Amino acid sequence: MTKVFFKAINSYNDTENISKTAEKLLDKLVREEHIILEKYVPLKVHFGEKGNKTYIQSKNYEGIISYLKNHNIESSFIETNVLYRGERTTKTNHIKLAKDHGFSQLPIVIADGEHGEEYISIKVDKNHFKECKIGREIAKQKQLIICSHFKGHALAGFGGAIKQLAMGCASRGGKLDQHANSIPKISSLKCKSCSACVKTCPENAIVLNSKAKIEKDKCIGCASCMAICPHNAISTNWLGSLSKSFNERLAEYAYAAHKDKNNIYITFAFNITRGCDCEGHSMKPFVEDLGVLASTDPVAIDKACLDLLDRRKGKKVISRGRYTLSYAEGIGLGSQEYTLIEI
Ligand code: SF4
Ligand code: SF4
Repeated sequence: MTKVFFKAINSYNDTENISKTAEKLLDKLVREEHIILEKYVPLKVHFGEKGNKTYIQSKNYEGIISYLKNHNIESSFIETNVLYRGERTTKTNHIKLAKDHGFSQLPIVIADGEHGEEYISIKVDKNHFKECKIGREIAKQKQLIICSHFKGHALAGFGGAIKQLAMGCASRGGKLDQHANSIPKISSLKCKSCSACVKTCPENAIVLNSKAKIEKDKCIGCASCMAICPHNAISTNWLGSLSKSFNERLAEYAYAAHKDKNNIYITFAFNITRGCDCEGHSMKPFVEDLGVLASTDPVAIDKACLDLLDRRKGKKVISRGRYTLSYAEGIGLGSQEYTLIEI
């Protein structure tokens, strides 16, 4: 059965402990799972959107970085460009923001080029996709350490290792493939015409006459408007076929990014907010911090995060998005059955 290693840490402020724990878990995983490390192992991270305060800061990765250095393994921080227009849309701006956010310990690689045009099509032959567009510099690697931030996500329900693989490793075109049909709806009854969504929409896809309305041909399904609306007037069909289809597309892209690689998954379950690190505003965590997890299985590690959260609260904390796990398991990405090894 897949092993998931876990160490509980109850505060994100305990940076040194988090960093050393990640190093310890990596070492344990490598030894217990007999992982052979490549000569170059990039860290897939998320640099945090400008204005976001709850992404995992680079100092938390220092233990992993020092472990790799001590084993003479070269590394980098690797990322892909985002779909929406913002500070991380182009390679140049993306690298600048990463540096502004303190990611200075390793070289920074933007895997899909200046505008997301550099990708390799990975054959998957699944229900939604025959091939998936994975950022070139990620697709080329035999091994990555996928560093994920476990938290909520407006469309996916939650974000962790699967999300980091799927959206995080896809080129811009690959992200668009996954977002197709994920267009939110605005309730004209709830809309107060405040224009907040119009100002936040990266594609100028919302027009405001007496009420706000989404122009479907422009919308890229980024969900920013849903996060910003102060009157909760924007929603999507979470339980309907569109949502299910989104989760399936996500899992298929994760499968492509994981395929034929000897990846390591390290998840930081801190700053667990409802929204994701692409949201360029500050958010408050809605549950307490959990700790650090490590595994070779992206499905198992995500399931373990959800289970730990449920165990902590004595109830199902995040219900949306769990379908991603069963679909991912069904297409061979990993297993929901795991053994939790607490250290
Ligand atoms: S943010 Fe909400 S309330 Fe304001 S215009 Fe948009 S939909 Fe209407
Ligand atoms: S989801 Fe909302 S913010 Fe994003 S592109 Fe569509 S209308 Fe604009």
